[in-house]
Amino acid sequence: MESAVLDFESDYFTLFKLQEGVYSAIAKNHTITGANAGFFDLGDYVIVFDTMSAPKATQDLIKGAKFCCKKEIRLVINSHFHGDHIYGNHAISPSIPIIGTHDTVKMINEHTFENLANYQKNARKEIKKLDNQLKTESNPAVLFEINSDLDFLLTISEHGFNLRLPDLIFQKELTIHGSKRSVQIIDVGAAHSISDTIAYLPNDNICFMGDLLFENVDPSWVDKKSVMPFAVNPKNHLKVLKKYSDLNIKYAIPGHGKLSPSPIVFKSNIEFLRLKYPDAFS
Ligand SMILES: [Zn+2]
Ligand SMILES: [Zn+2]
Repeated sequence: MESAVLDFESDYFTLFKLQEGVYSAIAKNHTITGANAGFFDLGDYVIVFDTMSAPKATQDLIKGAKFCCKKEIRLVINSHFHGDHIYGNHAISPSIPIIGTHDTVKMINEHTFENLANYQKNARKEIKKLDNQLKTESNPAVLFEINSDLDFLLTISEHGFNLRLPDLIFQKELTIHGSKRSVQIIDVGAAHSISDTIAYLPNDNICFMGDLLFENVDPSWVDKKSVMPFAVNPKNHLKVLKKYSDLNIKYAIPGHGKLSPSPIVFKSNIEFLRLKYPDAFS
């Protein structure tokens, strides 16, 4: 990969410059803060794709965007309703609109708030448990995970923490033409979740794919029902992956895992879906 690692310090992610003005934030771990995000400079302002799950990670993301682009963020995209991609909405200034689909808003209302309430209900007990683990743990990687989880639980336990919903609702596709580049914000329909949104930068040949793509898809995960990645609509998911795979995208940023060459990541995800959902393709 030709992408360059940027000299920006965050405990939560590593910043990669994919192209002048286009950056991905690749999560450093696979715990609760472990979803990837990114941002790009349209010319006069910046658009952020997904907000990660710990608002502190989101604050770093905002700092990272300012560090790289030296411009204000004017819009945030939510790829789908899963908490690991949108809890960080809480850290986005109310003056910056968050764009999402009608179905994403519906699913946040029907599911994500409930999940958050469950986390909040059990937070005190979990914090105690993690605090005890901290006293005996010495492995730095595990310590990092415990601290990330603690950070998340403490944040969502704070008085006034709430989940911010997308407030700019689009249908099917929205193109924004900036002075430097254009972005197509596309609702691909039900695939990984009930409604998945991607951000395609056609002139750069770059696409932020959210959870339509995972970097690591081990075939041994196929039988494990609760293990990610999964698809609520495998047929459409496969169709979307094939479509974008055929576009020879230079960088397809996965929702989870490292940046890797896009032909490999498309191929492995397509094969994984075929294995996991054979009935959908018969
Ligand atoms: Zn995810
Ligand atoms: Zn997801």
